[in-house]
Amino acid sequence: MMDCLFCKIAAGEIPSKKVYEDDLCYAFYDIDPQAPTHFLVIPRQHIESAAAVDASNSAVVAHCFEVIAKITKELGLESFRVVSNIGEQAGQSVFHLHFHVLAGRDMTWPPG
Ligand code: 5GP
Ligand code: ZN
Repeated sequence: MMDCLFCKIAAGEIPSKKVYEDDLCYAFYDIDPQAPTHFLVIPRQHIESAAAVDASNSAVVAHCFEVIAKITKELGLESFRVVSNIGEQAGQSVFHLHFHVLAGRDMTWPPG
């Protein structure tokens, strides 16, 4: 998608601090970290949010979770939180599906 920040980051058109990449997804550190470790995992394919996941794109989403398990293992993170905000009221500010991975501090529940 032309005017999407995360499509541009995944394509390398906007710089980011890469954590991992493959053909289907890209992972990079959040510019405004909310925990000692905070990175985002995104599909390269433009999907607006988790509400737009269907049979045509769910394999890519499953792959993102495989990648989350792999990266967190490699980083030695035994406890972490995966968050995806859907819609403005839930706090979504970038409308390209992304999974926040947060670790390195105590987490509260429920999230605010
Ligand atoms: P959301 O608010 O949609 O759940 O999450 C979007 C996230 O993207 C935020 O945590 C925000 O800090 C991060 N973000 C926004 N713009 C950039 C950017 O240009 N580079 C990086 N690395 N992260 C960004
Ligand atoms: Zn996009």
